[in-house]
Amino acid sequence: MASIGVVGAGVAAAAATFVVDGARPDADVTVLEKSGGLGGRAATRRHGALTYDYGANYVKSDSERVAELLTETLDDDGLVDVTERVYTFDERGEVTPGREPDGQKWSYRAGLTQIAKRLFARTDAEVHRRTRVETLRHDPETGTWTLVDADGEAWGPFDAVVLNPPAPQTTDLLRGAEWASPAKQPLVDAVADVPFRTIWTAVLHYPFELDRPYYALVNTDKEHAVGWISREECKPGHVPDGESLLVVQANHEWSVEHYDEDPAANVDALAVHAAEIVGDDRLAEPDWTDHQGWRYALTEGSALAGPLDSAEDEGLYCTGDWVAGEARVHAALENGLEAGEKLSFGL
Ligand SMILES: Cc1cc2nc3c(=O)[nH]c(=O)nc-3n(C[C@H](O)[C@H](O)[C@H](O)COP(=O)(O)OP(=O)(O)OC[C@H]3O[C@@H](n4cnc5c(N)ncnc54)[C@H](O)[C@@H]3O)c2cc1C
Repeated sequence: MASIGVVGAGVAAAAATFVVDGARPDADVTVLEKSGGLGGRAATRRHGALTYDYGANYVKSDSERVAELLTETLDDDGLVDVTERVYTFDERGEVTPGREPDGQKWSYRAGLTQIAKRLFARTDAEVHRRTRVETLRHDPETGTWTLVDADGEAWGPFDAVVLNPPAPQTTDLLRGAEWASPAKQPLVDAVADVPFRTIWTAVLHYPFELDRPYYALVNTDKEHAVGWISREECKPGHVPDGESLLVVQANHEWSVEHYDEDPAANVDALAVHAAEIVGDDRLAEPDWTDHQGWRYALTEGSALAGPLDSAEDEGLYCTGDWVAGEARVHAALENGLEAGEKLSFGL
């Protein structure tokens, strides 16, 4: 029986696990995830009657394969399409109607984390949360891999390992890997070369409704401290009637500069920006807030294919948006499906 270890439970890992489980029912898959949730950056939280996507805001229907996965293969109960438009704003905060929407923007009544939850639920994989992998070990005699977590527990041996963390975190794992192979250094270099952008997110709740013709505002000239503002109430099931919930994402430069500052001060500053951009003074004073720093939010490139291929020959597979080269949920999912196929074939 083949045994596979998966590091991370983002959407790409969930898709890879789903494919392997279907193609190789004899394979044993063990997933180790450092956080308490599934779905990685496609993340959802709940607070009372509120449900909000505080990482990725939606998944687009741009990939036919992913659209089919979400609407036909998986249960599409509770899948919601955000139909309101996305408007734009500039450096001065001036809002103008954006382009007509192209394709669907999906979430779920229960939030985007449903994608990973539904994929893993269709498999027999064992998923261990709050388990951070710190070391990868390769045994040259057997060709198998062992994963060691932060508590020193060893998992494996595995015939193959899938690495799903964002490129900078995968680089750290690879640098420290006990793996004597000519494939190692080129892989470390290729993954370390993938740049990532940072986003600091504020979530702002108000006990009143906002009457606006748009679902979200995006800063197109990239000169504003705020990159994105969206209204979770446009997603059915997320916000009770008569209330509003804004997700405000700061741009990369602002996020890096303020990353380690007092979160309350960051939230206040972003609420003031939101009030100015949306044009309603009341928005400067939310009655409840949440926040999240995403140090590794958006990939800005992809890793060279050659070193990734060479690692696969030794049973080490990388998957994620940074392998696909596009910081999008659908790109990560599609890449996970492909990684799962290659892995099933290579076992
Ligand atoms: C604020 C924000 C807004 C975004 N907006 C959109 C959007 O609107 N639409 C869109 O399509 N995309 C958006 N994206 C991008 C999208 O979220 C990502 O492209 C996609 O979710 C990446 O999925 P992934 O599986 O590649 O990686 P991830 O989701 O990063 O999954 C990696 C997993 O590995 C885990 N991990 C890391 N290190 C370890 C370790 N050592 N041991 C165990 N586990 C580990 C992490 O906890 C995580 O669960 C946004 C991202 C952010 C952060």
